[in-house]
Amino acid sequence: AQGGAPASSVRLPLRPELADEEPYGAPQLDVPVLLNVNENPYPPGEDVVATIAEEVARAARGMNRYPDRDATVLRQDLADYLEMETGVHLAPFDVWAANGSNEVMLHVLQAFGGPGRTALSFAPTYSMYPEYARDTHTTWVVGRREDDFTLDPAHAAATIREVRPSVILLASPNNPTGTALPTATIEAVCEAALTVDIDGARPVVVVDEAYAEFRRPGTPSAVALLERYPNLAVSRTMSKAFAAAGARLGYLVASTAFVDALRIVRLPYHLSAITQAAAGAALRHRESLMAQVATLRAERDATVTWLRKQHLPDGSPFEVAETDANFVLFGRFGDRHAVWQGLLDRGVLIRETGPEGWLRVSIGTSAEMAAFRAALTEVLHEQG
Ligand code: PMP
Repeated sequence: AQGGAPASSVRLPLRPELADEEPYGAPQLDVPVLLNVNENPYPPGEDVVATIAEEVARAARGMNRYPDRDATVLRQDLADYLEMETGVHLAPFDVWAANGSNEVMLHVLQAFGGPGRTALSFAPTYSMYPEYARDTHTTWVVGRREDDFTLDPAHAAATIREVRPSVILLASPNNPTGTALPTATIEAVCEAALTVDIDGARPVVVVDEAYAEFRRPGTPSAVALLERYPNLAVSRTMSKAFAAAGARLGYLVASTAFVDALRIVRLPYHLSAITQAAAGAALRHRESLMAQVATLRAERDATVTWLRKQHLPDGSPFEVAETDANFVLFGRFGDRHAVWQGLLDRGVLIRETGPEGWLRVSIGTSAEMAAFRAALTEVLHEQG
């Protein structure tokens, strides 16, 4: 810099609570088998790529103008998709869209959290939630999950009455555990929320269904409950089942009043014309993009079965969490980092996350899962 003090001697006025924080994110390493961030392992087919390229080209020709601020066409397309997936009729103004469900959730905290207010979830859960709370000056409180990672409805209801949060976040299927919530638990949470008074209003309940399309037969979606609970919202994403993590498109469905509140806090033109075009084009290919979801579910179930037959060095069987998602949490290892590193040394990247001793593996192609099984067998053998 010209003039002034050398850069190293100038302290920036970073908010004190951010002073020791690291930017969020799993390591992005260049290894052959990537099973660490719950991506869909199947890239889009050339027909999908061609439609996206065409639609993005069309958007580029009008790029001197700002995009549709309300993403009207895309929200209609998302409403149609969700209606097909859940059987529940939805209007476009009951749908919100943003750059990933990360941004959707930030909008929720910006609108309904804030200084003097509390957001509540139940741990272990998605590690970004406390960051949304921190970034919106919202107090963050967690209740507990049971040893099998289910949520006890009575504990949840009691915690809600005691903590009096303005925002309740429930991931179902939950990350990193894979646990889906039964309808009765979501109902208990919504009912408890209706007994809490926040400046004359009721808390909002957001069910984060980022992994919903991977749910097992019989596992419900909270979308069916929207009609009964006006303070309920369900968020979804195109990042997982839709194989479009790189497009950054998350969305939420709720009452029109809920969506209108999010529209107040969004940045103007938050969703670029390019993103709207790419997401709309991908939605048109939903059948082919989601064709692999059934394969991934079967691969997930097979991975669970295989993991349940494995043993720790002391001879005890693995613990493997029930999962409705495209990943599996398993353990418990005395030294999970050594197991994670051993896999990485063999070209397989998984995630060191969840409670102490557990590891999470995302479901990849069958070849990738074979590589994972072979590498894990070697690592266990080496340690045994
Ligand atoms: N919710 C949960 C539970 C997640 O695991 C993730 C992704 N890891 C997200 C939301 C965010 O997904 P995206 O921003 O890509 O939509």
